[in-house]
Amino acid sequence: MNEKIKNIMNRVKNSITSAIINAYYGKYLELGLPPRRFIQVNIETNSICTRTCHYCLFGIRKVPARHMSSQLFFNIIDQLVEMHFIGRVSLFEINEPLTDKRIYDFTRYISCVLPRCYQLLVTNGDLLNQERLDALMENGLDQLIINSYDEKSFNKNEVWFKYGTEKYPGRIEHCDKTSFKEWTSRSGHIKQYYAGEAVNTFCEYPNYILYIKPDGKVLACWNDFDEENVMGDLNRDSIREIWYGHRFKRFRGFVNKGNRSISYLCRRCDHTPDLNYMRQNKLITKKKLKKGFHSTEIVNGRMEDEAIAIKRKYLEGSAINEKDKVIYSSC
Ligand code: SF4
Repeated sequence: MNEKIKNIMNRVKNSITSAIINAYYGKYLELGLPPRRFIQVNIETNSICTRTCHYCLFGIRKVPARHMSSQLFFNIIDQLVEMHFIGRVSLFEINEPLTDKRIYDFTRYISCVLPRCYQLLVTNGDLLNQERLDALMENGLDQLIINSYDEKSFNKNEVWFKYGTEKYPGRIEHCDKTSFKEWTSRSGHIKQYYAGEAVNTFCEYPNYILYIKPDGKVLACWNDFDEENVMGDLNRDSIREIWYGHRFKRFRGFVNKGNRSISYLCRRCDHTPDLNYMRQNKLITKKKLKKGFHSTEIVNGRMEDEAIAIKRKYLEGSAINEKDKVIYSSC
């Protein structure tokens, strides 16, 4: 079949699938049916960035540096293991992940104990070099997206992209953001991109993303720069208690019906749901499961030893006990 016809057919197929997904999820959420398990976990291991981009929190104010404690990090991942979580795990959100030197070990830890999850990282490439790129990929990162925001960094990042593509085919992407125009207002925070009025449709974020800040707070969405919609605190409650808890349920009850009066942030928010993005995250995990797409060959017997060694490095044995072996062997 000729390439042009193939493309047209793919576009038609995608728009039909999108329409079905929108109708299905739209109705599901609107009717207040039971919450589904999250399919994506975003963990900000610190709140540090190397840039002050115009579309980001770092571009509009000074952000105090915060670090997630290693104890909390391992606690979160171990809870995901106990929940038999399968989905996307990303160790970043509103930060530059390579500013956290633990990222390589943390990536490896996740590969060991959650080998069926899909790990994706987005970086601006400022701190990237060959050694770091190799460390990420060899520790089990499934996909690295490098965003370039100016010409200088584009040229530098292109070198790593070419190097990485040759060595780790299909797992590195380089996005040229130098002439990108489709910035969003991040729920009204970035004035120059604000649509001017709030939106009154359901919101998908609180329904599929577990978004965790460095201090353990769980927020309803990643646009919450002032932490208005705090759904729980992982220093006190478990992931399960927070995700299925009263506060999150009540919050979803409002926004899923298109009623965004639940908070000042939601009231002025101009985010329109993008279920294709949600679907894409689901599909990439499925693809990994089907093809066994993973950089590192992890031999079962070695997994728990390696995971425990990483934990020991950070927790100095204080939180390592026999329970860990039970957790890991159940995954
Ligand atoms: S409606 Fe509320 S939860 Fe949804 S994106 Fe906007 S601010 Fe975030």
